[in-house]
Amino acid sequence: MGIMKIRSKLPDIETTIFTVMTKLARECNAINLSQGFPDFETSPSLIKLVGKYMNEGYNQYAPMQGVPKLRERIAEKVLELYHADCNPDTEITVTSGATEALYCAISAVVNPGDEVILFEPAFDSYMPAIRLNGGIPVFLKLSFPEYKIDWDRVKNTISSKTKLIILNSPHNPTGTVLSGKDMHQLKEIVRDIDIFIIGDEVYEHIIFDGLTHESLLRHPELAQKSFVISSFGKTYHTTGWKIGYCVAPAPLSTEFRKIHQYLTFASNTPIQYAYAKVMEDKSRYLNLSSFYQKKRDLFLSITEPSGFKALPCRGTYFQMMDYSSISKESDIDFSKRLTREYGIAAIPPSVFYHENDDNRVLRFCFAKKDETLEKAAEILCRI
Ligand code: PMP
Ligand code: GLN
Repeated sequence: MGIMKIRSKLPDIETTIFTVMTKLARECNAINLSQGFPDFETSPSLIKLVGKYMNEGYNQYAPMQGVPKLRERIAEKVLELYHADCNPDTEITVTSGATEALYCAISAVVNPGDEVILFEPAFDSYMPAIRLNGGIPVFLKLSFPEYKIDWDRVKNTISSKTKLIILNSPHNPTGTVLSGKDMHQLKEIVRDIDIFIIGDEVYEHIIFDGLTHESLLRHPELAQKSFVISSFGKTYHTTGWKIGYCVAPAPLSTEFRKIHQYLTFASNTPIQYAYAKVMEDKSRYLNLSSFYQKKRDLFLSITEPSGFKALPCRGTYFQMMDYSSISKESDIDFSKRLTREYGIAAIPPSVFYHENDDNRVLRFCFAKKDETLEKAAEILCRI
């Protein structure tokens, strides 16, 4: 008897582009500006702290909701930055990365047949999570090349079946950020209707040009309907440690935790203690925007002479580049050729659209050492 066949729940889903491009970059020994992660080390003091907590015996299960000290630090941070008064016992849950938090939040609210509005290009984990819960993704496009939300279209798209809207700001892959005006429009639209919101705010501390991060938590009317999700991986240059969190009103967090406790139960213990300790030094997250703004500006200036045309980037560590004057190839073909022939890997954003919309742009990650960016720019300028 052969191996039984699984009737796939996601027959059309392939291996994520991040895995595909990083693998190709390795095989080609290319500079990897595709998957978003730093090529510099996290701070030795943070690594030492994890070791310290391991040596002190913090090696067993953490509380299901997360280490209390860490939840308290998160509550202090959101109070100070967003004036949101959250109860760490009932409204904050620590997860195994933002990816897990997104899955829990989507699973908590989406029932079969419910519609979920999301904006394309969309981070690739949203749509499968919606579908696995029997939900129906309803795609709205961010306008190219500004990548703005058309709020009139949102209003006209909402139906009695709409259960959830997923927002992401600062936005991956485009680097756009939502403004106070966007928040105002969202408030007007959802005021009298029962609709949940997920705010994917993993790049909350990476925002440029003096702009303010418009967290949903700043807006009590929105926060009461929202799951606000963030990730320590982006903030502390530790994407491989996979710790994130979700802030949501108590009744929402209760349902969120029912999923979290049976998906992972609890997240890595010594790392949670280490983050709780480093969060005492607020400068670490408050200085992150200027750290990455310098990298963005360096990347922009050294690629300026190239045929790639930079689109505005106001947050995240991704720079979108228009290559239409260099090649007419699809972004997937061009990104693969760029990796194989020139030794630079980037992400083709068409994969973030359900219909593979291709605007002839590529996404480059600039969370890299200056020397890596300089080497990459030198190649890009030769193409
Ligand atoms: N959302 C967005 C927009 C992201 O870019 C990422 C980065 N991977 C995640 C969620 C997931 O974060 P994590 O690595 O903490 O799971
Ligand atoms: N967030 C990162 C990116 O956009 C990587 C995510 C992942 O590998 N799952 O590149």
